Amino acid sequence: MLDQAVAAAAADYVARNPQSLAQHERAAAAMPGGNTRTSLFHDPFPLCMVRGHDARLTDADGHGYVDFLGEFTAGIFGHSPAPLKRAITDALAAGINLSSHNRLEAELAGLICARFPSMDMLRFTNSGTEANLMALAAAIAHTGRRKVVVFEGGYHGGVLVFPPGGSPVTVPHQFVMVPYNDAAAARAAIDGDTAAILVEPMLGAGGCLPGTPEFLGTLREAATETGAVLIFDEIQTSRLSVGGQQAVLGITPDMTTIGKFFGGGLAFGCFGGRRDIMGVFDPRRPGALMHAGTFNNNTLTMAAGIAAAGLLTAEALDAVNARGERFRADLNALFERRQAPFHVTGLGSLMNVHMRGDPGLRKLMFFDLLRDGIYFAQRGLIALSFAITGDDTAAFLAATDRFVTDRRALWS
Ligand code: PMP
Repeated sequence: MLDQAVAAAAADYVARNPQSLAQHERAAAAMPGGNTRTSLFHDPFPLCMVRGHDARLTDADGHGYVDFLGEFTAGIFGHSPAPLKRAITDALAAGINLSSHNRLEAELAGLICARFPSMDMLRFTNSGTEANLMALAAAIAHTGRRKVVVFEGGYHGGVLVFPPGGSPVTVPHQFVMVPYNDAAAARAAIDGDTAAILVEPMLGAGGCLPGTPEFLGTLREAATETGAVLIFDEIQTSRLSVGGQQAVLGITPDMTTIGKFFGGGLAFGCFGGRRDIMGVFDPRRPGALMHAGTFNNNTLTMAAGIAAAGLLTAEALDAVNARGERFRADLNALFERRQAPFHVTGLGSLMNVHMRGDPGLRKLMFFDLLRDGIYFAQRGLIALSFAITGDDTAAFLAATDRFVTDRRALWS
């Protein structure tokens, strides 16, 4: 019965979205699966969005949506707020591709170091993936060791994925994979051969599952005891407070990586850490480690990043995270009240819907909510932006209530 319901919802989706389908078919001629970003794909084809404003999206068939996906956490500002637009157009007017250092990079570096006590010094990259690759290189060079401890379900970028059993696209470091939130297993894996421990304070792509203070605290202790470099990947969680989740927990890693919204909506990554570790990149030193990248200091991203730092204030972050906490509690209360086999995990404005039983249930929720003008990830990710209002979360709750009421027969 569930299979039939999912098939009917998918057929309805196909009928409603002829322009998105046509776009998908055009794209598939030149890109495998019409796709250049795997996480965006879902059956039968993903929507093609043509416009965004504040928290609103419009697709190629003219349907309007409230954007609850928030560019997989990177879109915290909503779509093209004025300060970001201005910063980017000003930088464009001043001339891009200056073949040199510029004034913006040092300003942005200073603003970020001031937020994260774990970053005495930092360098910029073009993606979060690259930031984590460079952080690992720094830890290996600094320690002279090779082993890297990572966690099941961790996601640190396109070539740093850790599903159970591993992934053929992940770079060939000497990884040792340990269950997440298992302090004893982590403690046993970290030893005098360990160069780095790479961990998300909350599993993001792994389903918004928060790390426990005990687990993350154990990693800190083990790193200190063994001389391993503890790297917090805060590419998602750095929006949970001005100083990221590390400030909330009171745990200072040796290195931190950030990305996404800190680039103000443009391609961005950044890795930083203790002065003695980051010193390996100082080109004035003999034998310095190489870290090149044509666009590492590109003026558009640097300018957008400076404007973004101005928007990522304690007040703005506290407000969006408080809204997220309330919203998640309301969603869980609704699922419980209706005895629907779903629950939501996460922290602050970041959350993921999980289902008990058949994954078809989550697909159905996705299709039903889309019909009601609610856009989020089919895998269940929800990331609130500053532009999401109380009316928007109320609309999501109302659509979810309709879904669990209409579909009750599938689980009761
Ligand atoms: N680490 C985490 C925790 C992430 O969520 C992501 C992106 N989803 C990355 C790293 C990779 O960042 P990017 O997509 O910019 O390479």
